Amino acid sequence: MSLTRDEINLPQVTGCNERPVLKQRGQHEVFCGLTGIMWLHRKIQDAFFLIVGSRTCAHLMQSAAGVMIFAEPRFGTAIMEERDLAGIADMHDELDSVVEKLLARRPEIRLLFLVGSCPSEVIKLDLGRAAERLAVEHSPDVRILNYSGSGIETTFTQGEDACLAALVPSLPPEPDQAPAALMVVGALADVVEDQFARLFEEMGIGPVRFLPARLADDMPSVGPNTVYLLAQPFLTDTARALEERGATLLQAPFPLGAEGTTAWLKTAADAFGVDEATFNAVIEKPKQRAERAIELHRDKLEGKSVFFFPDSQLEIPLARFLGNELGMVATEVGTPYLNKRLLAHDLNALPESAHVSEGQDVDLQLDRCRDERPDIVVCGLGLANPLEVEGITTKWSIELVFTPIQGYEQAGDLAELFARPLNRRTRLEV
Ligand code: SF4
Repeated sequence: MSLTRDEINLPQVTGCNERPVLKQRGQHEVFCGLTGIMWLHRKIQDAFFLIVGSRTCAHLMQSAAGVMIFAEPRFGTAIMEERDLAGIADMHDELDSVVEKLLARRPEIRLLFLVGSCPSEVIKLDLGRAAERLAVEHSPDVRILNYSGSGIETTFTQGEDACLAALVPSLPPEPDQAPAALMVVGALADVVEDQFARLFEEMGIGPVRFLPARLADDMPSVGPNTVYLLAQPFLTDTARALEERGATLLQAPFPLGAEGTTAWLKTAADAFGVDEATFNAVIEKPKQRAERAIELHRDKLEGKSVFFFPDSQLEIPLARFLGNELGMVATEVGTPYLNKRLLAHDLNALPESAHVSEGQDVDLQLDRCRDERPDIVVCGLGLANPLEVEGITTKWSIELVFTPIQGYEQAGDLAELFARPLNRRTRLEV
């Protein structure tokens, strides 16, 4: 199916997003954007992430990676020592020499990200300039880009957003007269990406391109004939960068659960003029499998209350899934940032009873959580242990980013991620 950009049907978002949002600006408990390297280095198989940071950054990466470091990893930290921080050493010379050695030792690297950290930002090390200088030296064998993973004012999923936003200006332009093409944006597990690619192909939409691609040389082209669907809700800067290159957003709910996945796929199908019968035939079986898999967990989850602390920016689509597809009752849905444009559908679909909050004032939010005594709390690692000690069941939000949860075949696993901690507590209480 080959359409021009003007023949694409853009979805209209109906309903209003005027629900009250509690804005909080106080102490917050979050991981920094370096964490994104954990899944991005596995996704882009010939990329290397060189963090320019301190021993603290290196330790964070080591503990986050845990047992994953069994071979030569595709990330590392160029550790800034005291003399670097004191301005005694020329950081640019030192960085050049680290990059030189790295690329000589690892010739398979085709894309190198210089990743800024709190220490590199404090001393105002200009990694953009360093990347430009090094890119000239190592082009065309290696592309060198930079972004910040600093944790001063970010959440851990912003690392992926910053990385992809840095990648967008380097994407090749669309060929002249290119037909309209669909791009799926956001790192997905390969197995999920393959499932989506197959479904789109069966509908006659394609070839669909994914950002990021698995290899540096396979990154998709972009331009005014690109329409894109976000697979992850935390990609505000990436969306902006794509639109600066002329691409158009297809606003859709996020592909979590049977309903979310169907609505996400349907948005693309409608945009590309796929007829109803073809769409239904393609999704029928996987959708039924997803519904059956979700149903297996309904008796454990229906009617249970859930409270979200702001962490991953997946909170609103997750609350939509848990409320509408499993009958759970979301009380507070906290999110670090609320992008009403990207989240319009999921936000509209949240029940009125769910209180949305943006940002954090952690002590006040803990008080609200303790008052409510929800059946399960979704939160970062730093809050999980103290809440568990108080007898409140928790789910680590970071697990929802590390685990493949999007699409029909993962819908049951997603429900199970919430059922499991409740089961564990029930067993402990017996
Ligand atoms: S970037 Fe900042 S918050 Fe992240 S590990 Fe390094 S020092 Fe800590």
